[in-house]
Amino acid sequence: MNIKFLGVHNCESQSTKLVSLLIDDILALDAGGLTSSLTLAEQLKLKAIFITHQHYDHIRDIPLIAMNLFLNKSIIDVYSILPVREAIANCLLNDNLYPRFLEQPEGKAVIKFHVIEPYQIIQIEGYSILAVPVAHSVPAVGYQITSADGKKLFYTGDTGPGLAHLWEYVSPQLMVIEVTASNKFLEFGREKGHLTPSLLREELLSFQKIKGYLPEVITVHMNPNLEAEIGAELAVVAKDLGSSITLAYEGGQLYL
Ligand SMILES: [Zn+2]
Ligand SMILES: [Zn+2]
Repeated sequence: MNIKFLGVHNCESQSTKLVSLLIDDILALDAGGLTSSLTLAEQLKLKAIFITHQHYDHIRDIPLIAMNLFLNKSIIDVYSILPVREAIANCLLNDNLYPRFLEQPEGKAVIKFHVIEPYQIIQIEGYSILAVPVAHSVPAVGYQITSADGKKLFYTGDTGPGLAHLWEYVSPQLMVIEVTASNKFLEFGREKGHLTPSLLREELLSFQKIKGYLPEVITVHMNPNLEAEIGAELAVVAKDLGSSITLAYEGGQLYL
């Protein structure tokens, strides 16, 4: 499984992009940094997009992808929970802000939206994808992607602390998890559903207790202003746990 980090931050700028991961060039996880990272031809190669939750930084490129596909007479499958479909239908693709690509063109809508439930498993293109509920300020799911050869990636999307209930469902070799802020924002993280390095440490300890191992961990959704601080604090956690924890960067990729 080839994993490309297209966008890994929570703010967009000349040098940072919003969170999007690309799996083997055909599956996308979240849509904050897709159109700005992919050529039109690469966008047409996408088979499906899995969205974690309705926040703007994760759905922003859906209308833009839809327009590119529409102009090329193509379609795409988008998977997520019902609140995400409702947010896109009511706020973005509502014929006011942008065309209703969830229904149009009639009979062959550009976006084929599949509403999924937490704990549902989707089989697509040889991958098995499990959605699990995470702890955010709005309903949100993370996804475990299992490739045909049995490799497992778990991507949390935005989440705060309180993931212990998930560990019996996922067994990743690689965990891509959010760490939005540094430790001085611990209360903010608890309140808004985000992680800091110290909160991540607690989640990893609960994972280790239940699973008996720690996966490789790569963090995303960093606040660019806090990145140096987050990096220094994560290095302490990694040393303490004796595990690999690194910050993702735009354009980074790895093979699992
Ligand atoms: Zn969010
Ligand atoms: Zn976000």
